[in-house]
Amino acid sequence: MKYIGRFAPSPSGPLHFGSLIAALGSYFQAKSRQGIWRVRMEDLDPPREMPGAADTILRQLEAYALYWDGEVMYQSQRHNAYQAQIQQWLDDKVAYYCRCTRKQIKAAGGYYPGTCRDASITEADGSAVRIKMTHATYQFKDEKHGTIVIPSALAEEDFIIKRRDGLFAYNLAVVLDDIEQGITQVVRGADLIEPTGRQLSLYHQLNVTPVSYLHLPLAVDKQGYKLSKQNHATAIDLQHPTPTLIRAMEFLGFTLPDDIRGGNTEEIIDWGCRNWSQDLLPFATEITSPFSNGAL
Ligand code: GLU
Repeated sequence: MKYIGRFAPSPSGPLHFGSLIAALGSYFQAKSRQGIWRVRMEDLDPPREMPGAADTILRQLEAYALYWDGEVMYQSQRHNAYQAQIQQWLDDKVAYYCRCTRKQIKAAGGYYPGTCRDASITEADGSAVRIKMTHATYQFKDEKHGTIVIPSALAEEDFIIKRRDGLFAYNLAVVLDDIEQGITQVVRGADLIEPTGRQLSLYHQLNVTPVSYLHLPLAVDKQGYKLSKQNHATAIDLQHPTPTLIRAMEFLGFTLPDDIRGGNTEEIIDWGCRNWSQDLLPFATEITSPFSNGAL
C-alpha cells in the first residue's frame, strides 16, 4: 500500500518552531518512503483564525522547501460531508442531541454521564451532538511510544461531534478528512496523543481501517508550555529559513554534516529525506525549544 501522510495546520497564525516540527516530521516520514505528503488547512473554528494565516502557512512551507502533493484541502469546504455523517448517525440513533452545560458536566464529575442519551431531544438549535460510545478505545499503539493506555472514563465518554455553537468537532473532521484523503499514517505533535483514542473509536464506528499514528516530541517553552500562537511563539523566518530549518531537524534527532549545513533549503530537505529514520526521534514527548526565549 502506498504511504500517504499529511500535515494539517490550523490557520490560527503563521507557522512557528513547533508547527515546523510537525511539518518536517510528517514530510520526512512520507518522502523517505517514496510516499505522498498532503496538506490540509484545519479552518474549522473561524473565531480562532487569523485572516491571511492559511496563505502565510503555504508560503512558509514553500520557503522551507516543503512542497505538498495535490490540492490543499480546506475544512471550511467540507461542512456538507461532516453534516451528512452526523445526520446519518442521528438517524441511526448512534448520535444524539445534548443540552447539558459544561457546569452540569463538571458537577457530575467531569466526564459526561450520558444524561441525554435516551432523552430523545429533537431540537437541533442550541444543542450539541454527541456520539454514543459503543466502540470505546482503551489503548492504541503509537509507532514511537508503543502502547498508550487511555483512562476508561475518557475512553467511554459520549463525546461531542458537533458543538452547540454549530461548529464541527475536531475529532470528527480529522477522521472524515483523513479517510477522504486516503491517509495511511498520521504524524503530529504529542499534544494530540490524548484525542487519538476518540479518533480510533470513530474509525471503528465507521467500519474503516484506521491510520497508524506517530507522535512527535512537542516543542515547549522554558515554563513547559506548548509553543503556540496563544503564548506568542514567533513565526518562522521566511527570509532566512536555513538556521531555523537546521535547528528543527536537530530537534527531530538529525546530526547534519557540515557540508549539508551550508546548503540551501532544497539540499538540506533532500538530505533529510535520504537520511531520515523514525528511530532518530528522541523518546521524550516534550523538549524545550531552542527558540523558546523568543530569540528568533
Ligand atoms: N490542526 C491540528 C493542529 O494544528 C492538528 C490536527 C492533526 O494533526 O490531527 O494542532
